[in-house]
Amino acid sequence: MSDLLGGKGANLAEMVSLGLPVPPGFTITTGACQVYLESGSQPAELQEQIDTALAELEKSMDKTLGQGEDPLLVSVRSGAKFSMPGMMETVLNIGLNDTSVQGLAETSGNEHFAWDSYRRLIQMYGKTVLDIAGEPFEECIDAAKSREGVGTDVELSATAIQELVREFKEIIKTETGNPFPQKPSEQLIGAIHAVFDSWNTDRARIYRRREHIPHDLGTAVNVQAMVFGNAGDSDSGLGSGSGVAFTRDPANGDQGVYGDYLPDAQGEDVVSGVRNAHPLDYLNELDPNSYSELMAHMKRLEDHYRDLCDIEFTVERGKLWMLQTRVGKRTAAAAFRIANSLVNEGVINLDEALRRVTGAQLAQLLFPRFDLDAESTLIGEGTNASPGAAVGEIVFSSQAAVEKAALGIDVILVRRETTPEDLAGMVAATGILTSRGGKTSHAAVVARGMGKTAVCGAESLRIDTKKGELTTSQGQVLTAGTIISIDGSTGDVFLGSVPVTASRIVKLFEQGKDSALVGVDFATADLIESVDRIMAHADSRRRMGVRANADTGPDAERARRMGASGIGLLRTEHMFLGERRQLIEDLILAESTDQNKGALAALMPLQRSDFNEILQAMNGLPVTVRLIDPPLHEFLPDRVELAVKVAVENERGSASDTDVKLLAAVNRLSEQNPMLGLRGVRLGLVLPGLFAMQVEALTLAACDQKRAGRNPKPEVMIPLVGSIAELSIIRAEVSRVIDTVLAHENVSLEIPIGTMIELPRAAITAGDLAELAEFFSFGTNDLTQTVWGFSRDDVEAAFFSRYLELGIFPVSPFESIDTEGVGELVREAVERGRAARPGISCGVCGEHGGDPASIHFFNSIGLDYVSCSPFRVPVARLESGRATLL
Ligand code: PEP
Ligand code: MG
Repeated sequence: MSDLLGGKGANLAEMVSLGLPVPPGFTITTGACQVYLESGSQPAELQEQIDTALAELEKSMDKTLGQGEDPLLVSVRSGAKFSMPGMMETVLNIGLNDTSVQGLAETSGNEHFAWDSYRRLIQMYGKTVLDIAGEPFEECIDAAKSREGVGTDVELSATAIQELVREFKEIIKTETGNPFPQKPSEQLIGAIHAVFDSWNTDRARIYRRREHIPHDLGTAVNVQAMVFGNAGDSDSGLGSGSGVAFTRDPANGDQGVYGDYLPDAQGEDVVSGVRNAHPLDYLNELDPNSYSELMAHMKRLEDHYRDLCDIEFTVERGKLWMLQTRVGKRTAAAAFRIANSLVNEGVINLDEALRRVTGAQLAQLLFPRFDLDAESTLIGEGTNASPGAAVGEIVFSSQAAVEKAALGIDVILVRRETTPEDLAGMVAATGILTSRGGKTSHAAVVARGMGKTAVCGAESLRIDTKKGELTTSQGQVLTAGTIISIDGSTGDVFLGSVPVTASRIVKLFEQGKDSALVGVDFATADLIESVDRIMAHADSRRRMGVRANADTGPDAERARRMGASGIGLLRTEHMFLGERRQLIEDLILAESTDQNKGALAALMPLQRSDFNEILQAMNGLPVTVRLIDPPLHEFLPDRVELAVKVAVENERGSASDTDVKLLAAVNRLSEQNPMLGLRGVRLGLVLPGLFAMQVEALTLAACDQKRAGRNPKPEVMIPLVGSIAELSIIRAEVSRVIDTVLAHENVSLEIPIGTMIELPRAAITAGDLAELAEFFSFGTNDLTQTVWGFSRDDVEAAFFSRYLELGIFPVSPFESIDTEGVGELVREAVERGRAARPGISCGVCGEHGGDPASIHFFNSIGLDYVSCSPFRVPVARLESGRATLL
């Protein structure tokens, strides 16, 4: 239903059918919006349908839109299939004009309210429908406030507001050449079109790109009778107000209703955080009946949706109206705790709990936190709006955040409050700090959605973005560039850079539950229990193995603690960095067989000891060792730098023989497209002895392990194979070395030999390769590069942002597997490989092995395992489990 009615429309319909008090209205479908956006005009039948629906609405309310006495007013709100908080437009109070405002004043007996509603309409209509900048309106309000000597707009007198209405109409006349439309039907259609158009604003596009929401869905439009949270008191003294509430705490998952209430306010006042709201209990003090009715409706909603719901409501002179509900967004910690708690309450089962958490959320829980024992200077406290620990330089504008972040500088975006215009800066910043608004303010909602650290409503901080100053309650003035630290889990703001400590969830994986539970509070303990239980369930459900890409002993140990069932990719070239680079350089420069042998002999013991370390760490688990892969020039000095050095030395007549030889080698090995040049299996075929040395070292290490009573399970993997002939030659050499070493050491051991599939040709001829390969590991980084013809090192910076903007792909194919192209090739290769060698083990070791969407795809095509970085292993385990359920 939400495809057509959008999330908001579908949930409103749901609330109506549950019998909850929803203001009457109708929803215009996303289909109408799609036609409007594609053709530039609304579908032919829309006007008639709006007229019919409006007539029904008028009938049910027993008044007509904008009638002179006691007018019907409507709100026009966006509502896409996927929630895009604050990204699109809303117009309220449609139906007010010079006549009906009088009628509203009379029926409500509240002139202030009526004129203020009219003032809001003209302002919103001007900005949203007529595209007039917000400033002229704001300036008039500021001037009115200073004329009357008041601090907030609520305090303005009715006369002042009437004057504002006159000024606002003048602004519209000046800016557009036309008067503010007095005809309610014209206002209505203008607002509907503006909501359609707001689907394509920059901020909405940025948001969709980030959240991977398709650009062609369009938004539905909800037209509903207005109810007023700023309508003043009823005859019996019951007040009005608006609020936002959650059936559980969305920040940490605590059980129990949670929310904000703002008397004498419309919903947008609560959400924008312009005024600081009261806790929900306040409504209980003011109007216990509305409060208990609200509690009953919330219980009903949670029972119905079987999940945390968030709600917007309004009380109009003592009458409660439910304006919106949806299954609420929540932080990562809340997601795990709520899912587990619902299992305990018997509401859902463990499978459902597993469906409701994501790898991305688990990854967030692995973030570090501030070290509470470290010295720190607290300069302010706000609401813990979105958890995490962020350290960075202060910036006061979205633009500055974007610019600094582009230079690789961590920044904290500091604003009084954020608006949707700040989105680009919020994306770029490491953390967000505001001085106004609570957990339901724009900043908080958006930050939580992004998993970005945020502290909101730090009221003791005075923020002047124009001057570029943040003043603490102690009077200390901080300017842009000053480093601060914000704790999104506690709401604390510190001066300077506070050291961070590892997360408890990392401790859970690394040291086990008992040690993670030591000395933690109830919420953290409950989180640890929840993660542990859901992870165990994911492991019991998953079909695929999860291995790690690791190249050192400590990495291998960590991978094992994180739950890896082996190493899927050991990149041996990483063993030749640092001081050892010289040894590879010697090998490359060797001019005689003796020199070549000498260089290899020097490398061998180092390799043997590295392999020993890793095999020991992974005792009993498979370790896939990839023979050296990258182009050799990566081990040599930079060509330009070396050429300059030699030229300078020549000039001085002091050129060293080694440098000259080195430069000659660098020139000889230099390639236009090294990623497509002499690397992988090609190196093994061209450079004698290198692969053999690696295999000898590995086999010797395995013998060492065996003799030490362990169970080593090495596998040899040959990279960048394109043809069976390449594989055949290298395989024969590898086998020969293994057999010779085992015979010499008198050890018996199976060492499977397999190949990477990372070239289209390998995928296409996988049936042939399987004859000689005991396993396949898909190198989806190179496969993506070669299938698309993208240079891995160049394209992301060069033009991917443009491609993403144009929607050529929704996400970089290096990040998430391109299922139609690269993925299809993987699927076919698996099929061919298995036809030739039934049961051949097939895994993935490209970066995609740790990406949730890709993991689901790999599961669907029957891969045996994914391999990813040690830190991603828990995420891959969770997502592999989820993949079997979704
Ligand atoms: C790959 O190409 O996917 C792969 C794992 O190898 P590398 O990234 O080292 O080229
Ligand atoms: Mg590769």
